[in-house]
Amino acid sequence: MTEPRATTEALAVPDAILVLNAGSSSLKFTVFALGEELSPIVSGLAEELASAARFRARNEAGEVLGEHAWPDGAPGHEGAIAFLFRWLGEHVPDLTVRAVGHRVVHGGATYTAPVRIDADLLAALEALVPLAPLHQPHNLLPIRLVAAKRPDLPQVACFDTAFHRTAPDLAQAFALPAEITARGVRRYGFHGLSYEYIARTLPRIDPRAAAGRTIVLHLGNGASACAMLGGRSIASSMGFTAVDGLMMGTRTGALDPGVVLYLMDEFGMDARAIEDVLYRRSGLLGVSGLSSDMRVLLASDEPAARFAIDLFCYRIVREVGSLAAALGGLDALVFTAGIGENASPIRAKVCAPLAWLGIELDAQANEGRGLRRISTEASRVAVWVVPTDEERMIALHVREVLSL
Ligand code: AMP
Repeated sequence: MTEPRATTEALAVPDAILVLNAGSSSLKFTVFALGEELSPIVSGLAEELASAARFRARNEAGEVLGEHAWPDGAPGHEGAIAFLFRWLGEHVPDLTVRAVGHRVVHGGATYTAPVRIDADLLAALEALVPLAPLHQPHNLLPIRLVAAKRPDLPQVACFDTAFHRTAPDLAQAFALPAEITARGVRRYGFHGLSYEYIARTLPRIDPRAAAGRTIVLHLGNGASACAMLGGRSIASSMGFTAVDGLMMGTRTGALDPGVVLYLMDEFGMDARAIEDVLYRRSGLLGVSGLSSDMRVLLASDEPAARFAIDLFCYRIVREVGSLAAALGGLDALVFTAGIGENASPIRAKVCAPLAWLGIELDAQANEGRGLRRISTEASRVAVWVVPTDEERMIALHVREVLSL
């Protein structure tokens, strides 16, 4: 009676974890079926929530399961979450959401691991808003909305800073007066959920890299680098905020702080105007004057586009040198996120000047797709492309924290 059993299983109510990742005007979600394998059932995005909002959901194969537009204006996060729960109820009728996991950008110095959310935690996370004013409020809003709508549903906060709390004090300190440091002005590091996912993947694919000295390059619209020793973060390119370190899509990366003073004195800029320059008008977009999208720049013959790419890669090469010094050598280099996973010319341009570190790229493997080693057999340093999956990392945390 194999067939009826299979049918029953197919109709069985899938208990699931809902993962939410809220940005300033967007809400990403993925539903994972609980089980030994956390299988994604449906994922999607509601975007431009403050203006011409749109919703789209896809199954694991990438087929569109549903689309929606709000012609009469802006639903905000509240409307988007209400719509999402309604949509899931209608389109995945057997679904039972057992818990919700959230990406929360800042856990401060206190939260070194994911935690179940209650009123006290929410208040503590609220107090961290000044540390990440552009992101934290958007992360906390869906938590409050879900708590109001479904108070029965356990929620878990997963922090982008948590993975870096293993870094030594030296790596987390600025050379500032002690009373300023005491107010929490220190290097926190971000993209932690991505790095943690890579750290959990390494033992399976490269035990030497997992146990040894590895630099992970998370190169997406936001970009950073992390030095891992035995799978734990010991240093990262991002600091107090997510604007430090590598050049990004629209963010400067590391900048002489004297530039900020100069912009105030000579350009008459206030904090908000400078914030706009540092976060939204710089990086690949600002330097190229063309686009923040690496695909557009790679396809362009404009000298400014070439220069932006050159600068992007130069900054990465410099940072790899710095992190390799912090690690005392290098066993593996991992590329991940949108650019890291997909842009073979960028990987080639980063690896060529790092030959002195023992990196030798296999040109053919570099052109391939998916998780793979892209260095030659002879390369002293193993170079990998590992697709990241922050949503899965959150779902894994939810399962662990709640023992589901
Ligand atoms: P993420 O923030 O991880 O989604 O990455 C977004 C970035 O990845 C954008 O700058 C895209 O231009 C870049 N990206 C995505 N696919 C490709 C590709 N095939 N080639 C080059 N860059 C890509």
